[in-house]
Amino acid sequence: MSEANSLREAPVVVSDDRGSMRACVIRSTGGLDRIEIADVAAPGSPALLGGRDVRVAIRAVALNHLDLFVVRGLPGEYQFPHILGSDGAGVVETAGPDVTTVKPGDAVMINPGIWDGTCAFCRAGEHSLCVNYQVLGEHLPGTLAESVLVPEDNLAKVPALDPPISWAEAAAFSLVSLTAWRMIVTRARVEAGETVLVWGIGGGVSLAAMRIAKLRGARVIVTSSSDAKLAQARQLGADVTLNHRTQSVVQEVRALTARRGVDVVVENVGEATWEDSLRCLAKGGRLVTCGATTGPRVVTDVRRLFWNQYTILGSTLGNATEYAAVVRVLSSGALRPLVDRVYPLAEARTAFERLARGEQLGKVLVEVRGSAADPVVP
Ligand SMILES: [Zn+2]
Repeated sequence: MSEANSLREAPVVVSDDRGSMRACVIRSTGGLDRIEIADVAAPGSPALLGGRDVRVAIRAVALNHLDLFVVRGLPGEYQFPHILGSDGAGVVETAGPDVTTVKPGDAVMINPGIWDGTCAFCRAGEHSLCVNYQVLGEHLPGTLAESVLVPEDNLAKVPALDPPISWAEAAAFSLVSLTAWRMIVTRARVEAGETVLVWGIGGGVSLAAMRIAKLRGARVIVTSSSDAKLAQARQLGADVTLNHRTQSVVQEVRALTARRGVDVVVENVGEATWEDSLRCLAKGGRLVTCGATTGPRVVTDVRRLFWNQYTILGSTLGNATEYAAVVRVLSSGALRPLVDRVYPLAEARTAFERLARGEQLGKVLVEVRGSAADPVVP
């Protein structure tokens, strides 16, 4: 994993033999009406490009809030038509000459964060801190296409489970599980007996964070504006559920913790919840955040921060060691992704609209080839 991957040095070389493929793209940023299905150039063959890249025939793709932000427009240059999609699972089509860990025909899941392998952070194994970190579907052509080019180090074989994991479950695993693992295990270091508050349990990262915190032996309080989602969250292991539309989360958390507050708050909401998150923390508590779905400009009363000796932790995706660790947890049968709904590629925009409305509990999927309900045969 220390070798530089060739994706950056050899981005989509135009060659006569690569042909075209169906993909979900945008030609400009803006509203979800920009999303279209189009024929675009397929990625080149890794056998020709060389190095350690792998071409994966995508079976299914899970959507994330990141995809909505990409459509609206993120800083940085887009190369239109831009192929959307970060999560995905599929079958190895062809592999570069230096690839050793996967072979054509293998069923794989994709870690969407691509690192250069050469900077100081990469050499220290901290790949998601890479100074040239790029995410499939954001900085690079995404997974919502018949094929995608991915470095070997970003692939994990789909584990054999009983009952077998579906392509939808495999596609829904990587981004949220890796993100939540780094937040709960590496950054916040949640321990058995601690109390954790997770906002917005309908979100994929929030649900994964709740389940990982439960695996660590924590007591987990979750919130949602939907009583139906809270009922589902209880079935999935939540210890306490709060409706943040009808209840004061700060007051309820104080009552539930004998006025002490929680040890850890898991944030990805931003402006709408930030101040309440800090009010929910116990002295010496940790707030870990990976997102800002309601806006990035939060207000922090610095006096509360230093007097209560809070720790605020940022977190983004995760490194190769963390990805391997969370895949091992999946192999043990835990952390099986929850699938909300699956749409055909032709209806990808409808899938984005469902995610944008926040109706889901679990992941919204797009099936690219075949049925996403099919079991994966590793
Ligand atoms: Zn790097």
